[in-house]
Amino acid sequence: MELNHTHDASRCSWLDSANLAGTDFPLQNLPLGVFRRKGSAETWRGGVAIGDQIVDLAALESLPGLQDRVANAMRAAAVPTLNGLLEQGPEAWQALRHGLFALLQDGSLLERRVREALVPQADAEHAVPVGIGDYTDFYTSLDHAVNCCRQFGIEVNPNFDWLPVGYHGRVSSIDVSGQQVYRPMGQYRMDQDSAPVYGPCQRLDYELEVGAVIGIGNARGTPIPLATAQQHIFGLCLLNDWSARDIQTWEMPPLGPFLAKNFATTLSPWIVTLEALLPYRRGWMRAPDRPQPLDYLHAPANAAHGAFDIRLEAAILSARQLAQGRKPRTLTHTSFRHQYWTLGQMIAHHTVGGCNLQPGDLLGSGTVSGPTPGEAGALIELTVSGTQPVDIGDGEQRGFLEDGDTVVFRGGCEREGFARIGFGLNYATVMAAPAF
Ligand code: MN
Repeated sequence: MELNHTHDASRCSWLDSANLAGTDFPLQNLPLGVFRRKGSAETWRGGVAIGDQIVDLAALESLPGLQDRVANAMRAAAVPTLNGLLEQGPEAWQALRHGLFALLQDGSLLERRVREALVPQADAEHAVPVGIGDYTDFYTSLDHAVNCCRQFGIEVNPNFDWLPVGYHGRVSSIDVSGQQVYRPMGQYRMDQDSAPVYGPCQRLDYELEVGAVIGIGNARGTPIPLATAQQHIFGLCLLNDWSARDIQTWEMPPLGPFLAKNFATTLSPWIVTLEALLPYRRGWMRAPDRPQPLDYLHAPANAAHGAFDIRLEAAILSARQLAQGRKPRTLTHTSFRHQYWTLGQMIAHHTVGGCNLQPGDLLGSGTVSGPTPGEAGALIELTVSGTQPVDIGDGEQRGFLEDGDTVVFRGGCEREGFARIGFGLNYATVMAAPAF
């Protein structure tokens, strides 16, 4: 895939809100989601974000004069999950993007017809946009690993330099932005020497991550080589891997996270396609003083453009701040470009043993943290395990999350000479643990 006219920053839409500086959704973005009118019983269907509106693909698919391949892709996306579109492959994804770009561009002859297919984002609610078969969460930020291990007084495991560490996560509790997350009950120890207790998690945390939606999978027994791994990604979203640190610390050895992670994962509603992200890819290299990857995790294409410069922010709004209409104070500013392993390397490693990925599978990047303290993507790092609470504004501080807190993630890409594109919001609110 190469840069083309859909990345030209000088192109504008006939929709004014798409041309405003600072919008997440200019003509150059065109991310896909699944929506319906808020509070309605309408059928969920695919839509594309543009400015402050959604293009309803179900209302457009019968538009006269569409090329067959554009109409086919629209039809596949005008249903409750995008999996049918994913299965059509990169040529169909590109046909849909280019078709929509032409329809939404200033001067389009079909402007009046497309206007009739717009739904204001403020009037919409979202569903998880793809039927997710499997979910794998990784652990690929060296800064996150170093920060966390320091607190436990241990060294980063030596395998970290050699493979993208991951675990198989839980699909049933994945939901979309706006979700209510119940504080999990579980077992934990109050200190190293005492017997475990059962109760509501005391150290509830978020993890600021990038989610990758697999578009085209692989046959079982046929690994995806790193050289072409990025082509298997349909697009990216923002992912909150909610984490119960006290439960996690007690249960992790020897098989990894279990109840500490399986109660909730929140996705942003829009999937930003890989084609929209092309201008913001970056070269990837391992610092010369660290071990270099084994051959199957090294490829010129990965070195040339394996990383993505996605700027990420995390914030917390207390129930009181939310009620008073306060704006969230950003606690974290970081970039996905710092990651120690690329998404391509995660895919190549995931499949090297013959495991088959399928359209709609979800990969979590692992917490994204950068080298400085303000770039930490989880409270356990930002607050040094709760010992140094952060100021969330209006006189409130947090070591870990409290009931009523809303965690808000934002993300976007900027590069000189290109439009700024964004991911929209990923937010969810912590609810008190259910009483038994
Ligand atoms: Mn995680």
